[in-house]
Amino acid sequence: MTQTTAWPVGVIARYLAVGGATVDITHRDETQDGTKKATCATCTGCRAATVQPWADSFPNYCRPGVTEFQNQDRGDRAARAWAQKHAETCRALQPEPQADTEPKRRPWLPTRRTKVA
Ligand SMILES: [Zn+2]
Repeated sequence: MTQTTAWPVGVIARYLAVGGATVDITHRDETQDGTKKATCATCTGCRAATVQPWADSFPNYCRPGVTEFQNQDRGDRAARAWAQKHAETCRALQPEPQADTEPKRRPWLPTRRTKVA
């Protein structure tokens, strides 16, 4: 089976579910400053998802707010296991590829008054 759809940016692993949808595994920041990361697995068919935070993080004491080490492997393994299990059971179909579902929004601007009394 040939999957011609391009992988979204950031997808590190992809599982093909029995229904034809895919379960994408991505990394994401748990916190705004990036000190805590997590591995996410999201099903494109039924939108089921799991978030597995990376465990055993050691902060860098020289540079506060920077994480020296995080157990990425643990988060990845848990997300992969979930993705594998979900792919075996999920019968949701691959959604139709839609180029741009978001309607073009125009910011509402008040009409400019050229003449000021
Ligand atoms: Zn699913």
